[in-house]
Order: sequence, then structure tokens, then C-alpha cells
Amino acid sequence: MFKNQKGFTLIELIVVIVIIGILAAVAVPKFQDLSDSAKAASCKQNQASIESASSIYYANTAIAGNATYPALTDLASTTYFQSGSVPTCPAQPSVAYTLTNGICACTYTDTDHPHSR
Ligand SMILES: [Zn+2]
Repeated sequence: MFKNQKGFTLIELIVVIVIIGILAAVAVPKFQDLSDSAKAASCKQNQASIESASSIYYANTAIAGNATYPALTDLASTTYFQSGSVPTCPAQPSVAYTLTNGICACTYTDTDHPHSR
């Protein structure tokens, strides 16, 4: 009467696939959200690096007797950044930062993207 059945029934497979689908539908937006917050955090870090480089530039010019804040182009050298170029916003690399009196800001306008630190 009872034969030894191995494997899963079609209903069991469908239930498992539906559960996996529900989990994926919940997880994908979360990963997108994490990616955005990682880019925002990286952008804040870039701004902090630029402001630190600006402070070093200011100190160097103060030692030389003419204290001035740099423009962004003044920082594009290996003295201030190992790559020799000023970092760009990770959320939108074509967007440039602004640097005013040592305060850096991101000009990329998007919801939940920080304009400044
Ligand atoms: Zn940014």
C-alpha cells in the first residue's frame, strides 16, 4: 500500500519557491537602501578629507606668512591626496564638491543625500 516515495511534491516545491520569492522581495529594497546610505557615508568622508587637506594647505600658507584658504584645484596634488586628484561624490561622480573658506559641501541634490557634514 505505502510505497517508499522520495523527493518533494509539486505543492511543496511551489510553497518553498513562494517563500523564497517573498524573502527576496523584502530583501532587495533593503540592499538598495544600504547602497545609498553607504554612498552617503562615503560622501561625508570625502568632504572630511577635503576639509582636512584644506586645513593643511591653510597651515602651510600661514607658516609661509600668507594664510589663505585653498580652492579645490589647489588641493589636486599628491601633497594632499595620494591619488593626486580631489575625490568626487560616490553617488554622482560627475558632481563636484564646493570648498568655501575650508568648508566642503556636496552639490549632488537627491533626497537622503547629505549636502554637507
Ligand atoms: Zn555627495
